[in-house]
Amino acid sequence: MTMGKTKGRVFSGARPTGRQHLGNYLGAIQNYIALQEDYECVYCIVDLHALTTVETTQELRQNTYEMALDWLAAGIRPEDAIIFVQSHVPEVTELHTILSMVVPLGKLTDLPTFKEKVRQHPNNINYGLVGYPVLMAADIILYKADTVPVGVDQAPHIEFTREVVRSFNYRYQTNVLVEPNMKATAVPKVMGIDGQNKMSKSLDNHIELAATPEETTQRVMQMVTDPQRVRRTDPGNPDVCNVFSMHKIFSTPEQVAEIDVECRRAGIGCVQCKQLYAKNLNTNLAPFRQRRAEFDQKPDQVWDILHAGRDRAKVIASQTMREVRQAIGLAE
Ligand code: SF4
Repeated sequence: MTMGKTKGRVFSGARPTGRQHLGNYLGAIQNYIALQEDYECVYCIVDLHALTTVETTQELRQNTYEMALDWLAAGIRPEDAIIFVQSHVPEVTELHTILSMVVPLGKLTDLPTFKEKVRQHPNNINYGLVGYPVLMAADIILYKADTVPVGVDQAPHIEFTREVVRSFNYRYQTNVLVEPNMKATAVPKVMGIDGQNKMSKSLDNHIELAATPEETTQRVMQMVTDPQRVRRTDPGNPDVCNVFSMHKIFSTPEQVAEIDVECRRAGIGCVQCKQLYAKNLNTNLAPFRQRRAEFDQKPDQVWDILHAGRDRAKVIASQTMREVRQAIGLAE
């Protein structure tokens, strides 16, 4: 464990979805940054997982790079946390194969996440989709993470991983694999600009962190507000308004209090309210955008960071695989 990190090792992975949006930031990246203070953190861009559903791999490298840029610019510290690309440490595929022998097939096909994927990709129900949770478990287990930050809806994945660990340790009468604990995190549900659905790139209702101030303002001005407020003279209800939820995160307490009052008595119009939000959001994101632009000037440096992360991750992975092979009795 790294000096000063007293609480153990965290693992978290995310599929390379390219430029990150506000929902990614508030739901995950912010938490990644905070965890660095107390934990030894292993953050992985899980490109192998992406292969289960991507139609073309042409954008995979660029998406990986863009995501790494966002993570670094947001404040993930590579001199501290291990940040790397999943496929750069192929030991995970070996562990995936080994773990797949202790997981009953019916358990995998019964998982709601598998059924959901089948619904989403009826023409591409591949073997990788079935084994997806085993690969997720392999990621956590390979790096001997004892802590995995998750939202409540992801709790079953951690429980699944714990079961895999117990099955393996029991079957081979060993204790080399570590059961991870879930660190429940309050993940705010960040709604898209449509005000109806969770912010998501595929629904094109997102605001990219790296967008220009003009693009950001344009997106904000499209945000759906209180649907009952039709005319400027109608009083609004901030409690049901997505713009107001965002003000609570990016505006000052005084501004939030004022909007809360003025909206209800039609003292402020939605256009003005959104303009203020856009201004505050752009101000908040300015340092991030500056850092991102600096990293983007030196793409080689970003890949060097990912490769250095790979080397550190490999040290842990090799050790785990040595222990796993020994526990099973595989010839070295
Ligand atoms: Fe929402 Fe602001 Fe319009 Fe009120 S004034 S409905 S908080 S956008």
